[in-house]
Amino acid sequence: MTSVFKKIQQDIDAKIHKTKEFLSHEKEWHNLSGSVHLTTEKIFHPRTVDDCKRVVRKAAKHSKHIRVAASGHAFSSLCSTKDYLIITNNLTKITISAHEKHGYVVIAEAGAKLANIEKALSEHNPPLMLKTGGLFKEQTIGGAVSVGATGMQVGNASISDEVVALKVVAADEQVIELTEEKDPLEMNAARLSLGLFGIIHTVTLRTRPLQRALLIDSVLPLSTTLTEANISSLLSHKEALELVYFPFNSSTFTVADDVIWVRSLVKTDENPSNEKAEDTLWGNYNVKFNEPLFKYIVNNPSATPHLVNLLFKAGVKEKKIVVSGGEAYSLNGAIDKVQYVGVEFVIKLRNGYKPVVDALNEVVSKIYERAQKDEFPINLPIKIRFVKASQALLSPLYDSNSSTVFAIIELMSIRDTKGYQDFVDSISQTWAKKYETRTTWSSYWERIPEVFPQTRTSLDDRRNQFNKIRTKYDPNGMFFDNESLKRVLLGAGDDADLDK
Ligand SMILES: Cc1cc2nc3c(=O)[nH]c(=O)nc-3n(C[C@H](O)[C@H](O)[C@H](O)COP(=O)(O)OP(=O)(O)OC[C@H]3O[C@@H](n4cnc5c(N)ncnc54)[C@H](O)[C@@H]3O)c2cc1C
Repeated sequence: MTSVFKKIQQDIDAKIHKTKEFLSHEKEWHNLSGSVHLTTEKIFHPRTVDDCKRVVRKAAKHSKHIRVAASGHAFSSLCSTKDYLIITNNLTKITISAHEKHGYVVIAEAGAKLANIEKALSEHNPPLMLKTGGLFKEQTIGGAVSVGATGMQVGNASISDEVVALKVVAADEQVIELTEEKDPLEMNAARLSLGLFGIIHTVTLRTRPLQRALLIDSVLPLSTTLTEANISSLLSHKEALELVYFPFNSSTFTVADDVIWVRSLVKTDENPSNEKAEDTLWGNYNVKFNEPLFKYIVNNPSATPHLVNLLFKAGVKEKKIVVSGGEAYSLNGAIDKVQYVGVEFVIKLRNGYKPVVDALNEVVSKIYERAQKDEFPINLPIKIRFVKASQALLSPLYDSNSSTVFAIIELMSIRDTKGYQDFVDSISQTWAKKYETRTTWSSYWERIPEVFPQTRTSLDDRRNQFNKIRTKYDPNGMFFDNESLKRVLLGAGDDADLDK
């Protein structure tokens, strides 16, 4: 009799714990830039919410941690675990529905790529688009929301701020539904949760009617463009703005002759041009040509000014075309194919644009100073965007006043560029003191000295608020398997204490 019960129990267990169909043969994973390599115990590719629950049950039974990885665009170690890694590439369903408060919302499974969401929205009747665009097409909605990704739209905060509801498989296997209406504070914790609340299964986002935009690419003198008054006038009446500075872009290789690429989007009712947005931009280089070129730059740093100059001249053209909807906000796609690392620095602009003008002038001068010593730590463009404050508790863009403006400056280089980290560290020290800069979670922040205490200080009491809500849903820390996040979120006092 006992053996019959044992058999029944085994059958039930087998059904419940059946994770084999979506268990990968692989145990290794690396992110897109190759800056993070993991060896895990198991990798799962769940297809349904029940699959997610099964992994959670298995993890609970064997006392394992779980982390989720999506398309691996984060440069930092956010997805790291030695235990169970869930990859969301099979969770891709997208539905659009009318919402009594928000007009139309899109409900996307966490692994849906932003390009596919924009496509589904543009084909809907009436045609729609995401409110936060300018992100990269290959990112998933789960990943973009989890880190608080930002686009190039002037009037918006992060994509996390457009989340209306989240369905999450939590540590007790329950599917929790977090909404703005139910509990705004919990929602502000969950809308940027770094994967710490559980496995996000679906994300519901606000949308807006599809619109056309005039995409203007101009090339302007650096010295006259980088002034407070000019930035203010560039920003006015624009849907989106991005400043892109390629070092060494003048024929004389002197900063006084350098120019800056200004990309902006202005609302229009004109008909879309035949030319596509992505056909116009630097990002559209042929990848086969890029790979050996980028390797060459890393191995021959002295060639940097000439080759970066060439890349700029060949790729950046002044243009004015009319683009449609989501396409307008998903520019620069081919950088997805470049193995690079980048740190994004966030500056709060309390009284005008002086801090961002000063910070940019500083970094440009330092690039030229290093060049004098035959050092070339920055070999990709510096990007500057302007966004509004986020309400997500962990966002580096957090401000209780939602109209506060922040500048985001990204310093990128091809992976393995000599001197990059050292350069970023020295810039970070100067900027942290002068402008109280913060770094974004998905960028390459963890190697910067002082970044842990600085991030903790900048989070203020929001760190405690977040931890309280996180532990409510994950009391035993099943999803809390990342040393960097522990140092920031649990630390009090010195990092040394934390590392014991
Ligand atoms: C080429 C390139 C361009 C980029 N452009 C921008 C940009 O324009 N703006 C910007 O802000 N950032 C940008 N980034 C950074 C990028 O937005 C973030 O790295 C974002 O997280 C990427 O999403 P992903 O799908 O690759 O997520 P991943 O990098 O795979 O994961 C990121 C985080 O999300 C968590 N996560 C993912 N899915 C889930 C889920 N279902 N449940 C719980 N947690 C989950 C992971 O655990 C991890 O903590 C760029 C990065 C690259 C490489």
